[in-house]
Amino acid sequence: MNITPKFDFNNDLIRLAELFRERGATLFVVGGHVRNTILGKRISDTDITSRLRPDEVLELCERAGFKTVPKGIAFGMVEIHIGDGAYEHTTFRSDTYSEGGAHRPVGIAFAESLEEDAFRRDFTVNAIYADVLTGRIHDPTGGLADIEQRLMRTTSKDPEDILSDDGLRIMRLCRFAAELGFDIEEKTFAAAKKCAPLLADISAERVRDELKKILMADVKYGVPALDSVLRGLKLLDAAGVIDVCLPELARCRGIEQNPKFHRYNVLEHMFYTAAMSKPDLKLRLGCVFHDVAKPVQLERQGNMHGHDVEGELIARETLKRLRFDNSTVEEAAWLVRHHMFDLDGRAKEKTLKRRFGRWGVERTKALCDIREADFRGSVGEYIEVKSAVRWRRVLDEMIKDSTPFSASELACTGADIMNWLGIPPSPRVGEIKTALLEHCAVHPKDNTPERLMRIARDIAR
Ligand code: ATP
Ligand code: MG
Repeated sequence: MNITPKFDFNNDLIRLAELFRERGATLFVVGGHVRNTILGKRISDTDITSRLRPDEVLELCERAGFKTVPKGIAFGMVEIHIGDGAYEHTTFRSDTYSEGGAHRPVGIAFAESLEEDAFRRDFTVNAIYADVLTGRIHDPTGGLADIEQRLMRTTSKDPEDILSDDGLRIMRLCRFAAELGFDIEEKTFAAAKKCAPLLADISAERVRDELKKILMADVKYGVPALDSVLRGLKLLDAAGVIDVCLPELARCRGIEQNPKFHRYNVLEHMFYTAAMSKPDLKLRLGCVFHDVAKPVQLERQGNMHGHDVEGELIARETLKRLRFDNSTVEEAAWLVRHHMFDLDGRAKEKTLKRRFGRWGVERTKALCDIREADFRGSVGEYIEVKSAVRWRRVLDEMIKDSTPFSASELACTGADIMNWLGIPPSPRVGEIKTALLEHCAVHPKDNTPERLMRIARDIAR
């Protein structure tokens, strides 16, 4: 193959490689840095490797005055800091895994050759090595040819060897295919399907991190969302990953909806909605769960009513199980709960303002976004969504009118209210504040101490 990539290794890395050479070892860059250089894509981190053992690497770095962080000495991993850069060095090794698909090898043996090391890596495109000093490429598994064909393939001829060792690799496979816009070689995908149950042995945090990356796959290298995010989600489903890791979503597969409004079944619709929304993780998580309770409701009561209320609970529980942080869980669950608001877009302007005032700017904006994505994801086209356009106009107007969206933006304090009404500290003060906020959502000009006093007295009467 005629690829002669130009590597632009910086002086720090070259200096490190020279020190390795003094020890009789060649330093290689491997993984994403090499793959992306060949593809002309952005580089996120630099993984380096050689035959030097971790203790030798530590000692060499100490002498040179480079800071090191032992990342997993037993696995041969040492992070080296030089200047502003961090380089993760992993000694050549070959791994052995236990039965089941747990991500961590039970035994590792350090290896002398790059060839051995290559076959413990997951995919051919991730197992291309570049000699830091000469730029020469070593490609023991045929990764260059696969890059040329834009193909994901395991390093081993029998893909099951690779995928059955570590279930996480199945999600990585779908993720790289999504991010890079690569196809997956047939035998590799067949093995992924077979090995998918092994994902049950992978920690929730790792599953979460891969899911996050797939939901944001369009952002990584700029592949359009329908070719990256949507495709990644569909690959997860086709491989059987959704069944194992997200059974709540799997229930939505094949659930048909009113063809007057929907081109897709519930699961497909949620995938489209996520892919067609703005690239924001909380929003996309809300999208991917927004109709999750439709099958539950259908089974329970013969229709889908109340799927927003029930969906909030399912979304919260699922996202907690996957160990998303609280704020992500709550914002996504909130979107699921409210995605049916003003569905026909005919709510009175006053009603909109009161709700928006209560929800605040950020949540209201996110609700506009999910509404837009929901309608677009019903037909698979980037149509204009009238209710979202109207909501945004109303919200903009509220912002322009300096509407207070929280108690701290009101032109009075709790003490003022107690003073005006001659009442002691009590929950009543909070109730009055809420009523004042609701009033000001519609009449923002009344947010002055004089007017608020009059209104508070009216309310309390
Ligand atoms: P990115 O550009 O997203 O960082 P990457 O290919 O560098 O992509 P990393 O997760 O940084 O991916 O891993 C670096 C390299 O380590 C990979 O290219 C691959 O060779 C190897 N690797 C990482 N995780 C695994 C795994 N679970 N199984 C086998 N090899 C792995
Ligand atoms: Mg990397």
